[in-house]
Amino acid sequence: MSSKRFRGKPCAYCFKNPATTGDHIFAREFFLPSVRANLPQVPACEACNNLKSQLEHYLTALLPFGGRHADASVNLNDHVPRRLQRNQKLYKELDAGRGNAWTFEKDTWQKTMSLPFDAKRAAQFFAMVGRGLALHHFDLYLNEGQASGTIFPSAKLSAMYDHLFQHPESNPIHHALGNDTVTYTGLMREHPRLETIWRLRVYGGLMLADSTDKDSASSSEIIVVTGNQDLVKMLVEM
Ligand SMILES: [Zn+2]
Repeated sequence: MSSKRFRGKPCAYCFKNPATTGDHIFAREFFLPSVRANLPQVPACEACNNLKSQLEHYLTALLPFGGRHADASVNLNDHVPRRLQRNQKLYKELDAGRGNAWTFEKDTWQKTMSLPFDAKRAAQFFAMVGRGLALHHFDLYLNEGQASGTIFPSAKLSAMYDHLFQHPESNPIHHALGNDTVTYTGLMREHPRLETIWRLRVYGGLMLADSTDKDSASSSEIIVVTGNQDLVKMLVEM
């Protein structure tokens, strides 16, 4: 697809610079080659596109290790070794931090191999994804005083968001990309203040095990909020 239709429009991620290209909200490399058609794109400036690409280099190599979806294992076997070969720095970082962790899976605690997970980089990536989705689905650019933020919720926090999404007036939208490699549901609220909320599952839900916090060990969804920056900050720190 030509990127011409995005050129010159405001960038979906910084809202200021004119776009030089169309950016896949989720990089094509997250998906197996056979299911990469029709992935959503938004206008992006060069700086944001480069920053997001760097985050995606890291995450497309790392996230398949934590996925439950069948395509994650195929990705892991067929594509991740090559990505790591090309990125020795990341390979060394992962190898050095390898350890054991306990995860709660299929109703029992299991010991699994864990890899160091840079939550900051993941949070930065998904915050950009939230901006892309807000523009793609709701035609919404964030403005001054607004921000986006990522939450890796505990089970308890997920239940609170369930409540919000089940509200009769919430009207969430549902989308599945590339054989369910990425699925998400999102909603826009205009009152009391304009905001969007996104709940994403990548590779069937990631096991972001943290051996020191049993409550978050089974966390598998990722939540992104966009809106008033004070509100977003509060939600992220909750
Ligand atoms: Zn930008």
